[in-house]
This record gives sequence, C-alpha cells and structure tokens, in this order.
Amino acid sequence: MDSKQTADFVQKEWTENVIPSLMDFIRIPNVSPAFDDAWYTNGLQNQAFDLVTQWAEAQKIENCKIELFKEPERTPLLFMEIEAHNSDQTCMLYAHIDKQPPMGVWMEGLGPYEPAVKEGKLYGRGAVDDGYGFYCAITAIKAIKAQGLPCPRIVMTFEGCEESGSRDLPYYMDKLSERIGTPDLICCLDAGCGNFEQLWVTTSLRGNTNINLTVQMLEEGVHSGTSSGIAPSSFRICRELLSRLEDEKTGLVVPRDFYADVPSSRLEQVAAAAAILGDTVVRQFPFVEGGHPVAKEAPIAEHILARTWRPALSVTGCDGLPPTAVAGNVMLPLTKLKLSMRLPPTLDAKQASQLLERILTADPPQGARITVEHQTAGNGWHAPLEAEWFGTAVHTASLTYFDRPCAHMGEGGSIPFMGMLLDMFPKAQFLVTGAAGPGSNMHAPNEFLHIDYSARLAMCVAQVVATLATIKPGEAAGKAAGEAAAGEAAAGEAAGVQAAVGDRKSFMDSFQMSGGNKLFFVGCDCGKTGCVIFDQGKEKICRPVKVAKK
Ligand SMILES: [Zn+2]
Ligand SMILES: [Zn+2]
Repeated sequence: MDSKQTADFVQKEWTENVIPSLMDFIRIPNVSPAFDDAWYTNGLQNQAFDLVTQWAEAQKIENCKIELFKEPERTPLLFMEIEAHNSDQTCMLYAHIDKQPPMGVWMEGLGPYEPAVKEGKLYGRGAVDDGYGFYCAITAIKAIKAQGLPCPRIVMTFEGCEESGSRDLPYYMDKLSERIGTPDLICCLDAGCGNFEQLWVTTSLRGNTNINLTVQMLEEGVHSGTSSGIAPSSFRICRELLSRLEDEKTGLVVPRDFYADVPSSRLEQVAAAAAILGDTVVRQFPFVEGGHPVAKEAPIAEHILARTWRPALSVTGCDGLPPTAVAGNVMLPLTKLKLSMRLPPTLDAKQASQLLERILTADPPQGARITVEHQTAGNGWHAPLEAEWFGTAVHTASLTYFDRPCAHMGEGGSIPFMGMLLDMFPKAQFLVTGAAGPGSNMHAPNEFLHIDYSARLAMCVAQVVATLATIKPGEAAGKAAGEAAAGEAAAGEAAGVQAAVGDRKSFMDSFQMSGGNKLFFVGCDCGKTGCVIFDQGKEKICRPVKVAKK
C-alpha cells in the first residue's frame, strides 16, 4: 500500500466528506434504548440510521450491498457486504450508531447535539463513541479501493444497541450468520487509546460478577446500649466475611482460585505500555491529597496488570444502615452489601460467582443468617494471540502513520459482545481499537473526537486490512489464546492495585469542567446518585433522571 497516497486520500476524505457528515450525525439525539423510553416511537434511531445509510450509499463502493434492517421492537442494524478483490480472506468491521445520553451540563459553547470544532477536536455526543467508527470503517476500505489493491471480502455491522448491552446484536448475528461467514480479522472500532500518539490495540477485558450479601443477626433492631456486648453486630460479621475474600491491609484478593496466569507475550506488552504511559496510569485517578495507589511503590507495569489481569473487590452498595443524620443508638438487625468482583480475562465468571457464594456462606460466624443473591456474571475477553502477519501489520501501520510503534493494553472494564464474537470466531484475529483517548469523555459531558488521531487511525485500519488481503488461505489465524503463562510470579506474588473504574474518572473530571455548576443525579437502578452501574454486563454511569443546577 502506498502510504503517501493513503494518507492524502484519507486526510482529504476526513476533512471534506467525513467530518461534515459526522456533524449531522451528532445533531441527532438518538440516545440508546436504555436511556430513552420513547426510543421505539420517536423515530430518532431511524433518523440516525437513515443518515448513515444514505452516506454509505453515496460512497458508490463497487460490488457493495447495503442493507438496513428495521425490525419490530428491535433497534436497527446496518449491514454491508463488499465482494473480495483478488483475496481469499474475510474481514468484519464493527461500530455502533446509538449514543449515550448528554450526562449533564456541557461547557459553555458546547452541547451534546451542537457539533463544534475547537483546537482540532470535534465536540458532540456520539463523535468518538462511536459515530467516527462507522466513517472510519468505510473510509479505510475506500482507501484500499482507490489504489486498486487486493481487498478481502468485507462485512460491516453497525448496531443500534451497544450502549444498552447489545441486546439485539445476537439476533442479527444469527440471522446474518451465512452472509457473515467466517471472518479472519475482526475490527472493532469502539475501544480506546492510551494516548493520541500511536496505534493502540486492546488485548483483553476483565470479567465481572455482582452479588448481594446479606448478614442477619437479629429479627429486629434493639437498643445498642442494652444489647451490645451480647448481640453480635451484623456489620462486624460482614467485615469478617469480606476478609475471607480480600486482605484488608494489602487490598489483594485472597483465594488463589480468583487469579489466572498471564501469558508471557501479554507481560511483554504491558511492560511496553508502562514505558509509554508512565505514571499517568496512576495519576489519572482523583486521589485526595496524600492518597496513593494500593501498592504504593509498585512499578507501573504492576499497576497496569492489577487493573487488567487481577481480581479486585469493590463494595458498591449497602442497605440496612440509616443515614448518619438520623441514625440512633440501635443495634441493627442486618447489613446488606453489594459486591462487585472484577475477574481476570480468562476466568469463568459463573464459576467465580459460585465460588464467592461458597466462601461467604461457609461456616457462618456466630450463627449469623447469611444469604447471597447472584446479580450478574459476565466473562472477560482475551484476544487470540497475534498471528505473525497481524503483529507486523499493526506495527508497520503505527510506524507509518504515527512514527511510533503500536502499543497493546488490556482494559479493566467489560464489553459483553466481545466474548460472543470470540466464541463464534475463535480463530479470527482481533483489531480492537478506537479514538477514545485521554479526556475524550465518551460517557460524560464534553465528548470529543480527536480529528487528526481518528484520521490516522483510519489509515492504520486501511493498512492492516490491505495486509490481510495478501495473506494466503489458512495463514491468517494466530495461536490459540491459551498460551501457558511464563510469568506466574507476576500473576501471583506481586502486589495488586485497586480495581479502577475507567468511566468514573472522566465523568468526575468533566463534572468539574462543566463551568462550576454542580449536578444532581437523582434516581437510578441502585438508588445512588451519579454512580457506576452494571447493566446487562456493561458498565455505565447511572441514568440521570433529574438534573438540577445549584
Ligand atoms: Zn461505544
Ligand atoms: Zn459507550
């Protein structure tokens, strides 16, 4: 592929063809179904899908079939098929059209549905998550076609329900399975990047299990003056049970069964990412003055591993305790905690859930009544290890268009459909990437797309897909994902770091950037305000029902 031609072509397309249309896309408030009760009747999803479908048709790609599915009670899906040109390979590209809600007040001069370009950034809801992905996929293919190069058979799926847990995607994937075939490469353009200076490939996602733990000691509350010393505190019993899971001094999860071995190639990639990112890995969190990470002196690579490959426990909710303002001297009958356990990418989440229950309910301290309710259990995801061609292609692309090598990193959160794709296509290579970098605010006010970065990303995608086209049949697949761990020590003994909730930081950041107006988020699934919830296996900020200014 002629890199100069590719760069010129994509740059021109991005400026003249893509950004203007993406601005129109931003103007449509097609909020994902989970955040919009009227989504099915208000026509906004259709409006957004009609816009992108018409744009796709206007590109006049040869031998390209474009089909927009609108089915009863389902979000739409745009499906595109482009015949192969001198290639035996198949590549699938994925992005989503639905958007997050505004999530509060945007900075002055910006709005979720008023696109604005400032200092090379296109602001607006859906710009980077994930409107750009649609344009990136098509522009990359156009760049290959413009040079008359071999091109794999292309299938593109653009769904309308990602922000609501991709609940319609399995239906469409089943329906279209014959037409999708067996992709050799899957490009998911809905992930993030560690900086705006090179190509980033996401290699893993952590799993997660949520349970409610109830410890009941008394049938009803009693005066604490009368009863304490005789009646055990349910809160204290909770502390004892939590210590079975987590060492309260080190923050490490105790049972070894919650750990998994980290493949040696991933350890090398983590070391490389640590060298690139430095202490931003820990500085990105809003610690109070004097606050520091769980493992204070640990090297950066250890912090990265701790939030991508290690288990970590968070207590995310509590019932049974009254607010301090009204709390009296009462020995409370019960304490109920919501526990969220992040799991290594390769661990079975259902089994981990069962194990949690066994550990917590075994041998109840002081005869307490202990119950565990299972909430959600979602597996993580671990990309198949890179085939040689793929490793070379991503590095070449990054060096060509960014002048820096490609970087790889896992993510601490989850994307449910990635596991589904891996189950369906275990031999595919995965290019999971995106333009959501530092400060992109994709689930918060002031979302932006870094225009230059996203254009270069499209060049990289073109390069990788063009490389796939030239691979001989049967040589595209990588090694099986279950490579044995050479770095057991790293997975085992090294100190861990707290489970980081990626979305929360950018949310809080933009919270403070929103012009001094304090927001009040009232009401959500968990009864807390502005908190992180886990909806159908996908992490998100709770839905703001009411927004008030101070
Ligand atoms: Zn997204
Ligand atoms: Zn999102």
